[in-house]
Amino acid sequence: MKLKIVTPERVVVEEEVEAVYGKTIDGMMGILPHHVPVVTPLEIGVMSYLKDGQKKPLAVMGGLLSTDGKSVTVLSDAAELNTEIDAVRAQLAKDRAQAELHKLTDHHDVALAQQALARALVRLSLATGKASAR
Ligand code: ATP
Repeated sequence: MKLKIVTPERVVVEEEVEAVYGKTIDGMMGILPHHVPVVTPLEIGVMSYLKDGQKKPLAVMGGLLSTDGKSVTVLSDAAELNTEIDAVRAQLAKDRAQAELHKLTDHHDVALAQQALARALVRLSLATGKASAR
């Protein structure tokens, strides 16, 4: 099964894989070859894929996952393999978002800060090896 994970900046993953696990808005979803065709939104979270029996985790900042059973495509604003994550940058982003959440009152700004915090927490969980994606 082909897996392609694409952001506006780059192709993050383009591999032949055995399985894909994504965090959809309805919970974790496992995709094996011949899965029924589906398109589903993804949460900001950890997803993973199996390549030669090895689990490869990555942080995906929401987006859309689609499969036709032969290939899986993920389109997201941003995604990083765990090996690509800069933990110091994620920690700074977390601190910044938390500081903003303490002083912001506008609903829209609060929502943006909450999303920034969620992205930072997912990156940190992967960078420190505490995340689990199946
Ligand atoms: P920051 O405030 O540190 O930029 P952010 O959550 O606003 O964090 P995004 O808008 O999600 O960043 O991503 C912008 C670009 O930077 C993307 O290409 C993303 O992959 C990359 N990126 C963001 N944070 C990290 C990180 N901690 N490690 C590696 N790449 C990152």
